[in-house]
Amino acid sequence: MDQQGILLKELLEERGVSVSPEQLDQLAMYYELLVEWNEKMNLTGITERDAVYEKHFYDSASLSFFVDMTKAERMADIGSGAGFPSLPLKIIFPHLKLTIVDSLNKRIQFLQTVASSLGLLDVACIHGRAEDIARLPEHRDQYDLVTARAVARLSALNELCLPFVRKGGTFAAMKGADPSEELLEAKKSLSELKGKHLSSHHLKLPFEQSDRHIILIGKNDCTPAKYPRKAGIPMKQPII
Ligand code: SAM
Repeated sequence: MDQQGILLKELLEERGVSVSPEQLDQLAMYYELLVEWNEKMNLTGITERDAVYEKHFYDSASLSFFVDMTKAERMADIGSGAGFPSLPLKIIFPHLKLTIVDSLNKRIQFLQTVASSLGLLDVACIHGRAEDIARLPEHRDQYDLVTARAVARLSALNELCLPFVRKGGTFAAMKGADPSEELLEAKKSLSELKGKHLSSHHLKLPFEQSDRHIILIGKNDCTPAKYPRKAGIPMKQPII
């Protein structure tokens, strides 16, 4: 087993998250595919093994410190890029039925390759804009848990992500620096999209020590018919 895997396992177990040797093998295979495909396309600026394990794998898994993943069944990751946070979470919590949405087809092809190479079941990788996919009945108001990391400011992100969340479900926005200002700015979009700020959580990456914040948002009703607006509008003209 690789050094980074052993360390990751220890760090996650300190937080009550267990990882099997098979899951560590899947993460190692994911790392190899990430680095290989990154030579042909832009997936991530982070390729050094230690850094990927900390800034991508540990960071993605940290959502499970604050959300009981065993209670979520259907999960959607919006703007997943190279698969963060959803693929490390799916590897560690294989019961999840995962839908990934990204507007860049090459990234979707990469994610499909990772899912099939690792033998992950119940992973649907969808190429499209969140604004369009959220209009389809099979995705609208359906998911127990919706995630997004590094996609947009919260005011725009609420419109991209909350339409996927079922009534009573949770949207988790994974952020870097202190998001208090973003949260204030997102007040109107929250109420328009039937969201409610539940809690915010802070953590530091274990070695690099940079700050991370996770904002948890609940949903108290179905998405109003007028949302999300046409593709591109939520980012260009966020509800503020
Ligand atoms: N979540 C990943 C991470 O944390 O490493 C990727 C972040 S990357 C900066 C943002 C991703 O969101 C890109 O892959 C982009 O294609 C996708 N994206 C941006 N706007 C989108 C939209 N409206 N619908 C779906 N995907 C979108």
